[in-house]
Amino acid sequence: MNIAFKSLANKYGTPLYIYDFDSLQARYLSLKEAFEGQKSIIAYAIKANSNLSVIKRLASLGAGADCVSIGEVRRALKAGVDRYKIIFSGVGKQDHEIQEALESEILFINLESEAEMKRVEFIAKQLDKEARISIRVNPNIDAKTHPYIATGLHESKFGVEIDMAKRMYIYAKNSPHLNPIGIHFHIGSQLTQLEPIREACAIVADLTRSLRAIDIDIKFFDIGGGLGVQYSDEITIDPKAYANAIKEATKGLDVTIMCEPGRYIVANSGYFLTKVLYEKQNPTHRFVIVDGAMNDLIRPSLYGAYHKIEAVEVVGEESPANVVGPVCESGDFFGKGVYLPPLAPNDLLVIHSAGAYGFTMSSNYNTRNKSAEVALEEGKDRVIRARESFEELIRLEEEYL
Ligand SMILES: *Cc1c(COP(=O)(O)O)cnc(C)c1O
Repeated sequence: MNIAFKSLANKYGTPLYIYDFDSLQARYLSLKEAFEGQKSIIAYAIKANSNLSVIKRLASLGAGADCVSIGEVRRALKAGVDRYKIIFSGVGKQDHEIQEALESEILFINLESEAEMKRVEFIAKQLDKEARISIRVNPNIDAKTHPYIATGLHESKFGVEIDMAKRMYIYAKNSPHLNPIGIHFHIGSQLTQLEPIREACAIVADLTRSLRAIDIDIKFFDIGGGLGVQYSDEITIDPKAYANAIKEATKGLDVTIMCEPGRYIVANSGYFLTKVLYEKQNPTHRFVIVDGAMNDLIRPSLYGAYHKIEAVEVVGEESPANVVGPVCESGDFFGKGVYLPPLAPNDLLVIHSAGAYGFTMSSNYNTRNKSAEVALEEGKDRVIRARESFEELIRLEEEYL
C-alpha cells in the first residue's frame, strides 16, 4: 500500500474516508470476469457504500444496483445506473416507494412476503401497470456467519419459505398486474464458505425448474450478495469458484445470473484515517484516543468487527493499546489490544477495510459532523463528499427555535 496518508490528512483534515477507485474497479471486474461466458448482471449493493461517485464509477463499468429503499433507487438513477439493471429489495417497502419504483421502470421489485405482493399488485393496478417482480426465497441454510448478518434461516425476517414462494408465483402468474421474472435469495453477509451458497443455489434452482414446468418463466436467477472479504486472515471465496458453483447449480436453466455484492467490491478499497489526540495510561490499560469515533465507523461497536489498524510513518517499540474515540460510550472503540508504537498528538492511524458499511452507517451522535470522503484515482485525489459543517448538521432544527 503506498497511499500518501499524511498529505491527504494535511489537505483534507481528519477523520477522513479514502476510497481507492482503481481497486474498486479491479474488484468489480474480477467478479464480472468470473462470470464470463454466462449472462450476468453484477448489481452492486448500494447500502455498502452509497456515495454517488462510487456508484457512478461502478455504473460506468456496467454495474447494476441492488437497492433497499427508494432513496437508494434514486441514488442509482442519479449516478447513471441503467434502470433495467436496478432492483429493489427489502422487507418493509412503503406504498410511495413501490409506486415510484414502478413509475421508474426498474428491472424488478423483489418481494419478501405475500402481503407485500398484494400491495404491489394493488398499486400496479392503480397505475395501470404490470409490475415485474422476483420473490426472495429463504432456503433455510446456515450461512456460518455473524448472527446479525445471517439472513437465510427460518428464524430470519427475510424472504419466504419454498412452499409459500411457489404459491406466490402461481398467484402472480395469474394476476394481470404482476409479472414474475426473477427468483432471489441472499443467505447472509461476509460469507467465507462456498458450501452454503452452493446448497442454497441447488435448492432455489430446483424451485426454478418446478416453476418452469408450470410455465412460469423465470429469467433472472439472483444469488444475492454476501461474498466475504479479508479483514484479518480469513480465507475468502475465489470468485471463479463461486461463479463455477453457480453455473453448475443452474445448468440447463438459461437464466441471467444476478449477484449483489456490496462488501466484496468496496470493503478493502476503503480506509478510515484518524488523528491521535492523546495517549492515556490507566493502571491496567494503554489508551490511544483519536479524533474518529463510533459515529464514523460503527462496525467494531456493533458487531465486534475486526479492522486492522496501523500507525502512519511512526516507528518504535510496539505495545498493546485500545484505540478509542471521543464519544461518551464505552463501546466507542476501533480496536482493543492493538500493537502500536508510542504515539504523539497529530500522529495518524489508518483503519483498513473501511470502504463497506463505514460511512453509510455513520451518524451525528454526540453532534459530530460526518467525515469527508475522498477518492483516489490514477494517482490523483479528489473530494467526493465535503466534510459536514455544524450549520448543515442543525439546519432542519434551527427554524423551529
Ligand atoms: C446487504 C445485502 C446485500 C449486500 O451484502 P454484502 O455482504 O455487502 O455483499 C445484497 N443483497 C441483499 C438483499 C442485501 O440485503
